[in-house]
Amino acid sequence: MTTQKLEIMKCTHKKQKPESSALEFGKYFTDHMFIMDYSEEKGWYSPRIIPYQPLTLDPAAMVFHYGQTVFEGLKAYRSEDGSVRLFRPEENFKRLNQSSDRLSIPPIDEAQMLAYLKELIRIDKDWIPTMPGTSLYIRPFVIATEPTLGVAPSRNYKFMIILSPVGAYYKEGINPIGIFVEDQYTRAAPGGTGTAKTAGNYCAAYKAQERATANKQAQVLWLDGMEKKYVEEVGSMNVFFKLNGEVHTPGLSGSILEGITRKSVIELLKSWDIPVFERRISIEEIVSASKSGTLEEVFGTGTAAVISPVGELLWKDHKIVVNNNETGALSKRLYTELTGIQTGEQKDPFGWTVRLEDEE
Ligand SMILES: *Cc1c(COP(=O)(O)O)cnc(C)c1O
Repeated sequence: MTTQKLEIMKCTHKKQKPESSALEFGKYFTDHMFIMDYSEEKGWYSPRIIPYQPLTLDPAAMVFHYGQTVFEGLKAYRSEDGSVRLFRPEENFKRLNQSSDRLSIPPIDEAQMLAYLKELIRIDKDWIPTMPGTSLYIRPFVIATEPTLGVAPSRNYKFMIILSPVGAYYKEGINPIGIFVEDQYTRAAPGGTGTAKTAGNYCAAYKAQERATANKQAQVLWLDGMEKKYVEEVGSMNVFFKLNGEVHTPGLSGSILEGITRKSVIELLKSWDIPVFERRISIEEIVSASKSGTLEEVFGTGTAAVISPVGELLWKDHKIVVNNNETGALSKRLYTELTGIQTGEQKDPFGWTVRLEDEE
């Protein structure tokens, strides 16, 4: 792939930035965005950073009809000394291409995407909030734009990156959530699109989320699509169980999303000599572990919350209370270590973070 010149068009007047305390998730967007186009003849072309603005698309653009689209989510953190860090961004771009492959979308040069992202963040650097727990959420995504109603892969696409300053996920400190074990709807099935970050997986989950809310639980725990027997994920997080001093997480079955936080947690646990297993885990097993007193902690992992302790599980007429509905010591340790590495407050022995300044 040839390196193309990045065109930069800066905005003429800057938006007013929200107060750090007013930040939510994905509500505000920065002054600029990255965009590039794809056609069969040219490949990916015309990379540019432009003022943040609405798109003009043909109503027949294929993304509106058949959902040919993929996305990613990662964060940039600003540390006390002003330096800016990304957490394992190359993993996100690798996964974007894996998702694209599943949706028959052409791949993008991963190193080039990272270079474009760094340039965009440099331009909008003042938008990275500094209050503890806040960060700049990064949303790269691809949409199919060919204006044709034929059911076939689009011949045109747009790749974009937008940036959103986000508030602290835990405003009153890390706290356990309750989860509803979904026994009716499924998120993904073997051979389906569960391993891809694609729009359809998420809107198809709203009904289950409604059931969780109606049952006074914050999130959904998904079971496998074949037998509704094995644990898969929690909402848009991967899930871990601490059983009798060991940590267990569902293996990559082909229907769960391969989280970068999940991967990092596994690597951290191994470095701490804590036994960690990737395997099939039935919900029955969790119920009996709870009864026998060996279920010590449950937590979700994902970019948004990093570590999200689970205090309660509701499955049919079983109510499982985990660790007295308190955040467990291992959940806390993982949260402190990971967020410390991400923000630069702690050493990064794994080389996971990428500093923006390094190439300036
Ligand atoms: C994004 C996502 C995750 C978590 O992935 P991270 O890379 O850790 O943020 C887990 N499950 C689903 C369904 C997701 O969409």
